[in-house]
Amino acid sequence: MYQLLLLRYGELGLKGKNKGSFISKLEDNIRRALPDKEILSTWGRLWVPLDHDLEETVARLKNVFGLYSVSPVIECPRDGKLEDIADACEKVLRSSLPQGGTFKIESRRSDKTFPLTSPELSKTAGSMILPRMGKKYRVDVHDPEARIDIEVRREGIYVYGEKIPMAGGLPVGTGGKGVVMLSGGIDSPVAAYMAMKRGVKVEMIHFHSFPYTSERAKEKVIDLAEVLTRYANAGIKLHVIHFTDIQMAIREKCREEYTITMLRRFMYRIAEKVAETRGASVIFSGESVGQVASQTVESMYAINEAIRMPVLRPLCCFDKEEIVALAQKIGTFDISIRPYEDCCTIFLPEYPKIRPKLEDCLKMEESLDIDQLIDDALAKSYILHIKKES
Ligand code: ATP
Ligand code: MG
Repeated sequence: MYQLLLLRYGELGLKGKNKGSFISKLEDNIRRALPDKEILSTWGRLWVPLDHDLEETVARLKNVFGLYSVSPVIECPRDGKLEDIADACEKVLRSSLPQGGTFKIESRRSDKTFPLTSPELSKTAGSMILPRMGKKYRVDVHDPEARIDIEVRREGIYVYGEKIPMAGGLPVGTGGKGVVMLSGGIDSPVAAYMAMKRGVKVEMIHFHSFPYTSERAKEKVIDLAEVLTRYANAGIKLHVIHFTDIQMAIREKCREEYTITMLRRFMYRIAEKVAETRGASVIFSGESVGQVASQTVESMYAINEAIRMPVLRPLCCFDKEEIVALAQKIGTFDISIRPYEDCCTIFLPEYPKIRPKLEDCLKMEESLDIDQLIDDALAKSYILHIKKES
């Protein structure tokens, strides 16, 4: 029944050059999601031809950030009869409101050679279909449950109704590049999703403490990254960092209650280094204020001081329940709750410092060869290329 899918993007605040690159990136990302389809970019809108594959096409576009809504469209010949337009309106209305309800027809006419004005066309089409629809359908021009749009253009006449909401956000690749610290937990995959939703291209960093953390723990992170490729426009690079030696050094040289604070200072230093070599400008983490000892504001202060690069924490003010709901929505939750050990859970101090002091951290670090430890860890690290889920 439908020949085209109309794609709408959020344009608010987009001007000049930004708008051009936004749209061309969005088109790129749509092309990757629909490799077999042509994308038509006309009249300041994007369209995709349909071939009895509406559901599949919408499903493939569901995770393309930057798309706000789509509408299936019936195309009528430009020189066709009014009857064709009325038929199209009827089909669209029945599919938008199968049980009946109130509706309104809106017309636009960029082709002024069409014999009726826009209000005349709306009125005519409305009065042609009303008698066919039965008592359950009524016109309400002020607050209709469904709206049918008729667009008259030189190329044809387009009729559409239903607006299917899409993912929103900004096209991945328009917002620069960041690295995400990806643990096997619930929070960090959600943070990665949110980073991508704002258009940031991401690479993942995972700290692995082999042999204290198992291959299974690493597999879990790979599985999470694979799910996250749904929201990326391509595969994702996962940097697996060998963290064991740093943990051993900290355990040996630092006060027990500071173990986590010190570990996290190293994590951020390494994340910053990886980010710099990969051309990324920010680090994302899944921290949330007050969730655990290392996420109090005092801890964040003592930890963040180790680096200069901005750390973005998309979940910083979310409750755990809110994060869990998002994790379920994006499809990472079931993987995240698989039992596993994280490098932060081994050698866990019995009483971690809730309000660590920066001076204490700096003092303890005097006995560590920070640069050497980091260089050695990076020498033993590697990159995995996680392919985009097909
Ligand atoms: P999550 O559910 O994301 O694991 P969490 O509540 O377990 O969060 P922490 O373990 O304190 O919290 O970690 C806070 C953040 O630090 C994580 O969200 C993640 O961004 C980062 N992080 C923790 N462990 C690792 C790791 N092994 N590799 C990479 N990043 C990590
Ligand atoms: Mg964790």
